[in-house]
Amino acid sequence: MPLSMKKQNTFILFAVIFSFFANVAESNSILKDVRINQSDNETRLVLDLTEKVKYKLFTLNRPDRIVIDLYQADLGKDLKTNINKTGLINGIRIARNNSRRIRMVIETSEILFYRLSAIPKNPNPNHRLVIDLKKAFEGSKKLAASSVNRKKLVVAIDPGHGGKDPGAQGSQAIEKDLVLKISKKLKKLIDQEKTMSAFLIRENDSFPCPDNRSNCRQQESLSERITRAKKGGADLLVSIHADAFSDRSVRGATLYALSDSRKIRRGSEYKVMYRPKTKNNVKLKSTSSRKSLSRVTSSDIDAQDQSIEIGKHILKEMKKDVRIRKKTPREAEFAVLKSTSIASVLIETSYLSNKDDEKFLINPRNQDKIVEAIVRGLKSYSASTRKDLGKK
Ligand SMILES: [Zn+2]
Repeated sequence: MPLSMKKQNTFILFAVIFSFFANVAESNSILKDVRINQSDNETRLVLDLTEKVKYKLFTLNRPDRIVIDLYQADLGKDLKTNINKTGLINGIRIARNNSRRIRMVIETSEILFYRLSAIPKNPNPNHRLVIDLKKAFEGSKKLAASSVNRKKLVVAIDPGHGGKDPGAQGSQAIEKDLVLKISKKLKKLIDQEKTMSAFLIRENDSFPCPDNRSNCRQQESLSERITRAKKGGADLLVSIHADAFSDRSVRGATLYALSDSRKIRRGSEYKVMYRPKTKNNVKLKSTSSRKSLSRVTSSDIDAQDQSIEIGKHILKEMKKDVRIRKKTPREAEFAVLKSTSIASVLIETSYLSNKDDEKFLINPRNQDKIVEAIVRGLKSYSASTRKDLGKK
């Protein structure tokens, strides 16, 4: 090989190495700012970066944390590396973890739903990573707390349908009238309990609509029922229905409830940080373990899927007096079951399309049996929760 050729090769090799380093240096993204937006039940974190980054996200417990590693990234000159409590975040620490990555540790106030999305630079001046945090178990925690503490357990009773919407039609009964009758009986019985109180979402043959409008769409009416339950300070929403089916031989009661993670809209990309494993999905937080149960609030409790738990207790009691179609709560994404901030069950008391079921259901004595079973179920849930929370 002539000397001149060798020199040229060395030059090419050097040029390649140099450009590799130059590339790396160029692609290092700078974390310029971390912004936090807080609304009622949600906290949004926005990371402003100069360039796109590789990242990894994972969660830890004790204390509950979300960790984000940013690769080939640098800390911005004016970046605040310690952020105090804001919204659902107890605090944030950002530091260089090793030569390759920056680590951001977000300590959260409880186990949350989270999602992360990246928003590319153009047309924005920065590349953004957006982390949305959302309360996941508010409804479960509230139900567990108020079923054991000194505060009364408040039950919102939702008689299905109403007004222009008759619901299922039997040969003698119409669902909207029948479920109103049963709901009124349930309210009366709950109000007789010292530890509970109830209110009705509708008290007459009306179709619940937002802002007391006389008419609205089905979907609006369903979310209005949840709104009324929340406004009334309910810890539990019980929606009462009677079913109909093309196969007239189908009969028996069914209870529907959703686990908390299924209350989140499908395709919303939210994930739960982790699932603690406890019996009946309820326990006192270690920091609250010396508190008397009569004084606990929802923030003293870790709880999830309590809609399902209370559903099991109600079904167990109903089974004693009422024909049951399914022995355990069924999960179905009915709109009234989908709020994460209120525990809820929907009871199909039986099938109006079945002659024997209809005959059973229009008998006032049997309506009493149903509401008595529901109240026994609520009390049995309270007793069981008290026992679980009392354990060390
Ligand atoms: Zn119905």
